Amino acid sequence: MNDWVIEYNGWDPLKHPLREALCTLGNGYFAARGALEEKSVNKYNYPGTYLACGYNRAVSNIKGKKIENEDLVNWPNWLFLTFRTGRSGWLDLDRVEILDHVVRLNLKEGILERNMRFRDNQKRETTIISRRFVSMNDIHLAGIEWTLIPGNWEGEVTIRSAIDGNVKNRGVARYRALNSNHLDIIDTGKTDKGSIYLVSRTKQSKIMMAQAATTKVFRDNRRMHDKRETKIEDKSVWQDIKIKCTKLRPVRIQKLVSIYTSKDFAISDPCNEAVKKAGAGINFNTALNQHKHIWGQIWSRSKIEIDTEHDELLILRLHIFHLHQTVSHNSIGYDIGVPSRGWHGEAYRGHIFWDELYIFPYINLHMPELARSLLMYRYRRLPRARQMAEESGYRGAMFPWQSGSNGREESQIIHLNPESGRWIPDNTLLQRHINAAIPYNVWQYYQSTKDMEFLAGYGAEIIFNTALFWSTISTYNHKRDRYEIRGVVGPDEYHTRYPDSDKPGLNNNAYTNFMAVWVIECALTLIGVFDRKRIAELAQKVGFSEEDIRLWKDLIRKMYIPFDDNGIIMQFEGFGKLRSLDWKKYHEKYGDVMRLDRILEKEQDSPNKYKACKQADVLMLFYLFSSDRLLHIFHQLGYDFEAKDIQKNIKYYQEITSHGSTLSQVIFSWIKARSDREGSWLSFRKALMSDFSDVQGGTTPEGIHLGAMAGTVDLIQRCYTGLEIRDDVLFLNPRLPKEINEMNLHIRYRSHWIKLKINHRKLWIEFDRGWAEPVDINIKGHTRRFETDDTAEIELQ
Ligand code: BGC
Repeated sequence: MNDWVIEYNGWDPLKHPLREALCTLGNGYFAARGALEEKSVNKYNYPGTYLACGYNRAVSNIKGKKIENEDLVNWPNWLFLTFRTGRSGWLDLDRVEILDHVVRLNLKEGILERNMRFRDNQKRETTIISRRFVSMNDIHLAGIEWTLIPGNWEGEVTIRSAIDGNVKNRGVARYRALNSNHLDIIDTGKTDKGSIYLVSRTKQSKIMMAQAATTKVFRDNRRMHDKRETKIEDKSVWQDIKIKCTKLRPVRIQKLVSIYTSKDFAISDPCNEAVKKAGAGINFNTALNQHKHIWGQIWSRSKIEIDTEHDELLILRLHIFHLHQTVSHNSIGYDIGVPSRGWHGEAYRGHIFWDELYIFPYINLHMPELARSLLMYRYRRLPRARQMAEESGYRGAMFPWQSGSNGREESQIIHLNPESGRWIPDNTLLQRHINAAIPYNVWQYYQSTKDMEFLAGYGAEIIFNTALFWSTISTYNHKRDRYEIRGVVGPDEYHTRYPDSDKPGLNNNAYTNFMAVWVIECALTLIGVFDRKRIAELAQKVGFSEEDIRLWKDLIRKMYIPFDDNGIIMQFEGFGKLRSLDWKKYHEKYGDVMRLDRILEKEQDSPNKYKACKQADVLMLFYLFSSDRLLHIFHQLGYDFEAKDIQKNIKYYQEITSHGSTLSQVIFSWIKARSDREGSWLSFRKALMSDFSDVQGGTTPEGIHLGAMAGTVDLIQRCYTGLEIRDDVLFLNPRLPKEINEMNLHIRYRSHWIKLKINHRKLWIEFDRGWAEPVDINIKGHTRRFETDDTAEIELQ
């Protein structure tokens, strides 16, 4: 491996599912897993193709109940390419002797390569070098090239190139009892230009996808004479191409695939467009070079480099790579949100959660125009969120915990515990704190761009609507003279109800209550920012009045936050009364207890009874807010919380957190960065490796964890640089872990491109030539104004 290439040596079917997910190629519009071209679905190979936000609903029968789920659809498999010699069987790695097998994911160029050499049962040796790309340049294009080299044989070869519509959603074992039939194949055929095509349509959402493929064979850069036969079946279409091979003379097979859907802009119908593109005579190498060129641009803009002893840079690049493959400049303008698991698998059904909170910081500081587009995904679903608030008896907007096509709540209501085989109720949808994450992201976007048009036109509506929701879900407790939020679930999903109650929901989750105050305060700030006319328009549209504003002003001084007697913020009211867990016993019995919830349920027990957390909950506050801001809100609420209490709280929760979510170590790394540099680095390493090493033992093959991936990049970008945007100033206060010798990064801030180079002694800052207004940067306490072409070198010690 070098710093740009992930390399897997040797063939191991057991390791393939993880590699397949990590080798997914995508362009922010569609993605395809790094499956073997020559195999359909089997117990280790799963050639999933996913369209960004391409969902479909289906009803399943579980335990006598009809349950409707909305899934990210697995579309027909366009990867299929195989061969056979003479009349022998089709290539099958299970039936040949593998002499070499190397897979390389080239992050710099966005190419997946496979180099294999094998011997069949007639002692014929063959080498196949495969290259694959999903074009970043043309979102509707992808290609596969095979270089086939007969080692010690010659003769007739049949190449089979197909588009296979015999697909279902079978990627996640836990969901297999559910209805996984999402597609109808509505057309298949071949064209005069020698292409094949297949058109499919989702059964309920009626999204149509057309895929067309052209396969050409070359020797010595000349098109080979071939005999081809096209076969069309119900659900698939393929071409058998016969050629004559000569010993040691490489043959190149190039398959270019074009994909259009009914969600596209500026098209007539998807089939027409796909067929036209496939037959347009596009040169494979030209298309590949254009794709590489765009990746070159992406990397030069989104440079984040660190100099360390180990493989951190490579894995960080893998994370940045998958982030761009999930949402990129190509996604702008489409109705696409950021899925928690990438478009890399079917886990969580491709839904969109609060994980955006971990993902937006990178996007804000590199592709603000993409951040805006992703926020529009939420804005478009405001009417639905308002309806949900109303149906639950509140005002304003209540966004769903899991979002999909139209913004209704997509969370499952029961889930299968694979440890026990039991279906159990799922109450995690009570995570109303999503309604703080969304406005928080709006505000962060505004802070890094100063895009007032967005804030006034769209963002403010999200902020006022969620503020109104928080003030109407809050209830006043006379005895306490405080406001409360009851019946919710915090980020820590291990606790969804009180142990002695059947009713889901907990009271006064500290994180939720604090965030509600922050949202309301943000709304009050906006009232002071916009002109009166705009405020009146917004008040009318959102439906808030002077009376609401009075309530908001009261709420930000009187929201209840539970504390114990030692100054520890209690995760929710009553948390302190729960039992202590015998962690030693569970560690001895199970080793890793990341999924303690499943273990306890299997033992007919429940995490609800214990002081045991899945992930950072209270501690999220120390991640999202500087200590100044945090103390300001606590003091305004009348709580005597001081900076020294932060460490006490970190220690308390660290001892009782199982890190059952990959997001958790990101937070721990962040909050320890200034006080416990070694601990921070340890957590950074754990978060960094969570997908690459599949630390949860089987979840990454079902889809990457984009929040943790982006979170680790953000640890470098904002945490170790001390980057914060406040009061129109960009603050930098670097403190590198000792493992990082130097870092180099590019960031986009208020329309400037800024280069930063930081080591333990110095910081170099360089503004690229541009057109934006000067900005203020505070470095270690001193504020300076910077404008186009400015540079500075600052001593840090
Ligand atoms: C975590 C949530 C997260 C979701 C999707 C869950 O395991 O607890 O915080 O939003 O996964 O990534």
